[in-house]
Amino acid sequence: MVKVGVIGLQGDVEEHVWAAKKALGNLGVSGEVVWLKKLGQLEGISAIIIPGGESTTISRLMVKNGLFEPVKKLGEEGLPIMGTCAGLIMLSGEVIGATPEQRFLGILDVKVNRNAYGRQVDSFEAPVKLAFSDEPFPGVFIRAPKIVELLSEGVKPIAWLGDRVVGVEKDNLIGLEFHPELTEDTRVHEYFLGKAL
Ligand code: GLN
Repeated sequence: MVKVGVIGLQGDVEEHVWAAKKALGNLGVSGEVVWLKKLGQLEGISAIIIPGGESTTISRLMVKNGLFEPVKKLGEEGLPIMGTCAGLIMLSGEVIGATPEQRFLGILDVKVNRNAYGRQVDSFEAPVKLAFSDEPFPGVFIRAPKIVELLSEGVKPIAWLGDRVVGVEKDNLIGLEFHPELTEDTRVHEYFLGKAL
């Protein structure tokens, strides 16, 4: 019985809850998926997802609700954590374009440029190649950060848009520029939840 928590303070939480439930079903695993808002809910947690949304707000609310340090520690200890878009920013070691009050968990060794795509092409959909599947994945990019540098040897690309890396993993951690929770396709969630089984 796995317990998946989606950081449920701001952003597209419900979409991740739905995708994680569907992925568990496809994997034939029984489990629950919860909106993670409070410290006490970390008890017995098997995996955490940090959604897309607005990273300054998610950062502020994670600190306010006492989730920031405990989630950081769990990630450092090996708990599977996946961040999409704003969630990727939250995980990153270095962020270009951060606001002064913004805090990051700093556990995934990548440098991201927070608002790299700019306004003109701020949202688009394009096929993404995945390391773990032959079929292209529908990549939804919304004011996405860009992964501009991998900061340690342990960071492996797992998703590409053309020849640019748009998704990485490092052991228990996954960070994606795009939003797999905004498609019907749960391959990425299934791959991530495999880390918790
Ligand atoms: N650029 C946004 C931020 O800094 C992230 C956008 C998203 O998650 N769709 O939080």
